[in-house]
Amino acid sequence: MTSESERVAAVRRYELLDTPAEAPFDRITRLAKLIFDVPIVYLSLIDGQRQWMKSVRGMKEVELRREHSLCNHTIRQTFPMVIPDLRADSRFAANPLVTGAPYLRFYAGAPLRTADGHSIGTLCCLDTKVRSITGQNAEILNDLARIVVDEMDLRLLATVDSLTGAMTRRAFSDALNRSLALAKRHDQELGCVMIDVDNFKLVNDRYGHPVGDLVLQRLVAICKTTLRASDFVGRLGGEEFAVVLPLTSASAAMTAAERLRKGIATEPTFVPFMAPRITASFGVAAYDADVMDPAQLLKRADLALYAAKANGRNQCVCFTESLAAQAA
Ligand code: GH3
Ligand code: MG
Ligand code: MG
Repeated sequence: MTSESERVAAVRRYELLDTPAEAPFDRITRLAKLIFDVPIVYLSLIDGQRQWMKSVRGMKEVELRREHSLCNHTIRQTFPMVIPDLRADSRFAANPLVTGAPYLRFYAGAPLRTADGHSIGTLCCLDTKVRSITGQNAEILNDLARIVVDEMDLRLLATVDSLTGAMTRRAFSDALNRSLALAKRHDQELGCVMIDVDNFKLVNDRYGHPVGDLVLQRLVAICKTTLRASDFVGRLGGEEFAVVLPLTSASAAMTAAERLRKGIATEPTFVPFMAPRITASFGVAAYDADVMDPAQLLKRADLALYAAKANGRNQCVCFTESLAAQAA
């Protein structure tokens, strides 16, 4: 691997790209904006071809082409880059963010450095006026960038999703590996259910992100009270969850999924004020001898989930070979 491909691998390892805004990162950009008294602050990751903002204040762009990214220079150094007047710097004078809206003049950015020495992104402050920054403030910016990386590293270690209490994707994947190995060794059944909230974008748009968050929390709570203690729920991403049901056949997993579906569709805390009602779609698959690995089991559940969505949502569909044939 080249050092750039290693750097990009380091960026992707955190699995943050294209995820929604989150409070711990938004707090840091808010703090930076207050401390440095600038109109624009963002926290970004620099992927192969683009710069993507995990948290952004004072600017509408959430993604920039890498060649237009000022921060692309910051990640080549281990300390903050400060440019008092972008127009006076030959590297930036012709940059479209300088020559056009938002007409940037001032830049101060600290690289996000991982423990293994990769610069994966930046925390930066921008202004439309020429200005400078004290050495002490450059240090503060650097410290805030380190707090960002600490937060990101903690997430890699986390086994519990902080919003919902479900297992994190990683922890779920480890547990699924172990359960599947056990099921194989003892020739036992194992069911898997993939869950995706229906029209969740609409829920967020209509009621706001915090209500969306509450819905996700309730959904996991319903899973936990409805399922057996030996079953486990993981949050695979955004509003997608998966449940593993050890010692459970495909038809029994369908029954469990149907119980969850009803539980969610009739949840009293959702019903009174939600229109349309909160529902979810379910894809069910079970271990059998030709399911070789966890990825294949999840893939089957995902195909079934896709069919549940296509059939009109708020339903459970069990994987069949004909679904696989259709997908192929
Ligand atoms: P579909 O029925 O096809 O699944 O439609 P959908 O709107 O649910 O589809 P999509 O997967 O495109 O939308 C998922 C939305 O979930 C988009 C994203 O902003 C939102 N989301 C992801 N994570 C979170 C979160 O942690 N909290 C909140 N409130 N929203 C989230
Ligand atoms: Mg959805
Ligand atoms: Mg989804």
